[in-house]
Amino acid sequence: TGKFVVGGNWKCNGTIDSIDKLCASLNSGKITADVEVICAPPMVYIDRVQSKLKAPYQIAAQNCWVSKGGAFTGEVSAEMLKDANIPWVILGHSERRSLCGETNEFVGLKTKYALDTGVKVVACIGESLAQREAGDTLNVCFAQLKAIVDCVTEKDWENIIIAYEPVWAIGTGKVATPDQAQEVHAGVRKWMNENVSADVASKVRIQYGGSVNAGNCDELATKPDIDGFLVGGASLDGEAFVKICNSAA
Ligand code: 13P
Repeated sequence: TGKFVVGGNWKCNGTIDSIDKLCASLNSGKITADVEVICAPPMVYIDRVQSKLKAPYQIAAQNCWVSKGGAFTGEVSAEMLKDANIPWVILGHSERRSLCGETNEFVGLKTKYALDTGVKVVACIGESLAQREAGDTLNVCFAQLKAIVDCVTEKDWENIIIAYEPVWAIGTGKVATPDQAQEVHAGVRKWMNENVSADVASKVRIQYGGSVNAGNCDELATKPDIDGFLVGGASLDGEAFVKICNSAA
């Protein structure tokens, strides 16, 4: 797989003041690991953050529209992200799936449109607690992946990161154990091997997300199929986030 990659999903948090402080804290942190780092501020602050954060930080949007822009009130198009030099977009986050009604198919179409427009994608998958307890974890993740696989070409996978985020671990403080995460990551890689190609399966980076913090990142990062993290709450704390970035195995 490629470089370890850590994303900070700031979600719908922050003010100009808090975001300026976060940028200053991130810029003053020492990232010593060989790691790619992607920060996803709320859209209204994205330009401000982009002008403040220095290398190695890259910027992502947290969402974009499924097709060319136009009469879609409240949306932001992939063309706009491309035009504004935003290289990444997070798509299919569980909050958008569950709160905004995004289906597997819709996330697949969005992924394809963003890639065709030249915006790279962090594609999120993951099961709910009820689905895990019913033994459906892998099948839920595979169905979410299949909807993406059905829309994209093998070459597109160079520009996709998979983020495995079990819904029960998001914002709950209940992190998956390293073994639980590793089991799903290995299952996803095996599925990619069988359903896309051995080459893509060996190269695609799979992030773990859900209650990752400065205290649990090091152990998770030792697992062979965990290629990075997608961090929510702890990404709003510059010092904690830099520590997580430096956990790159
Ligand atoms: P937390 O790190 O707050 O659990 O959020 C994870 C997440 O949803 C990142 O996209």
